[in-house]
Amino acid sequence: MFAGLGALSHSDPIFFFVDFGGILYILSLYMARIYDTAKSTLALRHRKHFLLSQLEILPDSLRASLVERFSRCGKTNCHCHHGGDKHGPFYYLTQCLAVGKVNKFLLKAAAQQQAARTGIDHYRHLQEQLEELSQINAELLRREENLGDD
Ligand SMILES: [Zn+2]
Repeated sequence: MFAGLGALSHSDPIFFFVDFGGILYILSLYMARIYDTAKSTLALRHRKHFLLSQLEILPDSLRASLVERFSRCGKTNCHCHHGGDKHGPFYYLTQCLAVGKVNKFLLKAAAQQQAARTGIDHYRHLQEQLEELSQINAELLRREENLGDD
């Protein structure tokens, strides 16, 4: 039932194609890293203060994956149809917008591909910082601590 589509790195969202009664849905699962919150409350507050001081939204932030593909061309006499290497790599920007809604397009120029890589890295870094902040806040709440300013 599940047919997984590989992601380029362990921290990429993983897309699953799931067939519910003939209708194809794509579910994106973001695997959150688990941060060490078994520290003293003071240490957690220091870490939280540091994270907040580092948070920055960079203008090229991009929530997407860069997918590498090799493919066959339209010429039946080409080597790619006769056991030779396929053409590529081609790089596609892929964004999962909602269940079953994927925005995908080819990035032709090397500069576009590099801009995508950088923007994806910036977004992911911000997302990781927010996730750590969120896990610290959950732990502080569990300890019946105040979540606001110290
Ligand atoms: Zn070909």
